[in-house]
Amino acid sequence: MSWNYNPLVTDASTASRIHADRAAGTLQIGWADGHETTYDAVTLRWLCPCAFCRGEAGMPGWLDSRPTLSPDQTRLVDVQLVGQYAIAPTWGDGHHTGYYTFALLRDRCPCEACAARRAPDADRAPIRRATHAGHAHGTDTVTTTAKESHR
Ligand SMILES: [Zn+2]
Ligand SMILES: [Zn+2]
Repeated sequence: MSWNYNPLVTDASTASRIHADRAAGTLQIGWADGHETTYDAVTLRWLCPCAFCRGEAGMPGWLDSRPTLSPDQTRLVDVQLVGQYAIAPTWGDGHHTGYYTFALLRDRCPCEACAARRAPDADRAPIRRATHAGHAHGTDTVTTTAKESHR
């Protein structure tokens, strides 16, 4: 079999198996690199990347207003495959304009391993270090690479 895979698509963003469980309200994705991702419908709805939900041209989207989602709005009715790169869920309220790319779905994978992988980015944000007690050991290492690159 020869498939015309986009060369930019890696195993980590290639879905080899997709299973939408309407009764349980979950979407499971098995990835070509062996990873498994399970989304619950509510989490998936909040990720909707469409212009209505996310906004466009600098305008905030509907989800930016932090609405209270009704059971209909988080009920997974159907999932359509869009080419080989995305899925488009249909929700109980009829919303179906969100194309969730596999890259997005893998990037936001809610499993523990992926959450841990994303955690270092969150720690890097210099917030929550308001105490003056003790010296921060981390700061000594920050500038060394910048200095070396000038030599
Ligand atoms: Zn949407
Ligand atoms: Zn994961």
